[in-house]
Amino acid sequence: MNPATRLLLIEDDPQLGRALLKSLNDSVYATSWARSVEDGDLYLQTQRFDAILLDLGLPDGSGLDVLKHMRRRNDLTPVLILTARDAVEDRVRGLDGGADDYLVKPFAIPELLSRVRALVRRSSGFASSLWRLGELTLDVDARVLRVADTAVDLSPREFQLLYLLARNAGRVVSRASLEEGVFDLGEEPESNAIEVHIHHLRRKLGGQRIRTVRGLGYLLEAE
Ligand code: CA
Repeated sequence: MNPATRLLLIEDDPQLGRALLKSLNDSVYATSWARSVEDGDLYLQTQRFDAILLDLGLPDGSGLDVLKHMRRRNDLTPVLILTARDAVEDRVRGLDGGADDYLVKPFAIPELLSRVRALVRRSSGFASSLWRLGELTLDVDARVLRVADTAVDLSPREFQLLYLLARNAGRVVSRASLEEGVFDLGEEPESNAIEVHIHHLRRKLGGQRIRTVRGLGYLLEAE
């Protein structure tokens, strides 16, 4: 394991936080500890991490807010959700929102370390900020889509939409999750706004790579 692997732990429970910090740092990770949504946002906007461990119940909001803020900035750092709530809905929301994995509390430290290793290993594919799926390449920094070798301009919303679908390629993403990921809180999109953006995306992608799964949502075909 690279000793320079940097983790951000976002967890408000002081006892659990201290214990995790010690275990992670003993395992050659350099770990920073944020205790709130605000704190987490600040760390993420000022430093680079290899993976995020994210608690959901934070004093000033939900960990899902931190996740949403990062994904909206196209920050692809992998996220492992640590949740005491084992409600299916929270997990689905987390995974739909772009989390990579989740672990239900209480968990054993070796299990956590093994998940973190897997996450960091997988994330090395994102080091160049390029996301590839078949002949599609998303350049997250430049916000450019390439189909085969041709650059295709996307509006910020189209980009975000494609990003959410790509992140979940091969799985259905609900319309509600897409709306939540694409529009700001308080914005009131037209009821067919997602359909319209999907329509434009399909044209730009060429072909029917985005499938409508009636009554459920949309799915980007995994190749
Ligand atoms: Ca908590």
